[in-house]
Amino acid sequence: MDVIVAGDRAELVKAREALGIGEKISSGKATLALVPTMGALHEGHRSLLRLAREKADHVAVSIFVNPLQFGPTEDFSRYPRTFDADLEICAAEGVSLVFAPAAETMYLPDRQVGVSAGGMGAIVEGAFRPGHLDGVLTVVLKLFNLVQPDVAVFGQKDAQQLAMIRRMAVDLDLPISIVGAPTIREADGLALSSRNRYLSPNDRRAAPALSRALFAGAEQRTPGEIRRTAHAVLESEPSLDLDYLVLVDPATFAEVGEDHAGEAILAVAAKVGSTRLIDNVIVTL
Ligand code: AMP
Repeated sequence: MDVIVAGDRAELVKAREALGIGEKISSGKATLALVPTMGALHEGHRSLLRLAREKADHVAVSIFVNPLQFGPTEDFSRYPRTFDADLEICAAEGVSLVFAPAAETMYLPDRQVGVSAGGMGAIVEGAFRPGHLDGVLTVVLKLFNLVQPDVAVFGQKDAQQLAMIRRMAVDLDLPISIVGAPTIREADGLALSSRNRYLSPNDRRAAPALSRALFAGAEQRTPGEIRRTAHAVLESEPSLDLDYLVLVDPATFAEVGEDHAGEAILAVAAKVGSTRLIDNVIVTL
């Protein structure tokens, strides 16, 4: 199947016409699901593409390494860029449209307005990456406006990002249904990530301690036991430099109390060598 590649709004409009994509699901025209990515596609992304295919007639993938969501000391310039391989994966997964804009197409030099992630964007991941979630929401809203999908699919791997996108859809009345997809892992539990390719052999040996800690925590019954058990596993791996381990409400990302009932997210972020990894699991209390 041929994939249409678009690089700006005019090419997107042509592609939507060629694919017969309508404005509304109820119009009876073809529907569109968007999977936003930063490229360097792996099996985790592929699982999102498959889920997207179940949700709509056509799947669009955006490939854009968004400068707004990287801090000044982060890995924007060395982030892996593998466009040709990504396009092959998209074709193999039946993707109809790849939107791969240049940074200059997305952001004017005198850009003024963006989305604020509010207080929820300043806690947990936001406390360690100031402005990151503002940058994510801004690019996601722009991608929604450009591609105009009916459905958008995001991974549970980036749990706070997913929660904030759901929140943006509610707070800003977006006419798009947001679908979450489960985290795909290596056989030893390490969550797939484009950043895993930075890991040295020693880092790669240490990295599964993150998911081991989450799985061990998730077997416990109370918030206190969950946090203690997961911490103990993390402390047993000296090559990890922990940013945070939190047990939070899935909708607000506020820490849950000892009397919490229902779902919670046990989330971790740590540096392994020079690579910062995040992971999480959903626990039911
Ligand atoms: P990224 O290219 O890292 O921005 O990720 C694009 C989308 O893929 C996001 O919605 C991520 O949450 C999702 N994703 C990344 N890694 C995984 C994984 N291991 N399993 C499932 N989804 C993932």
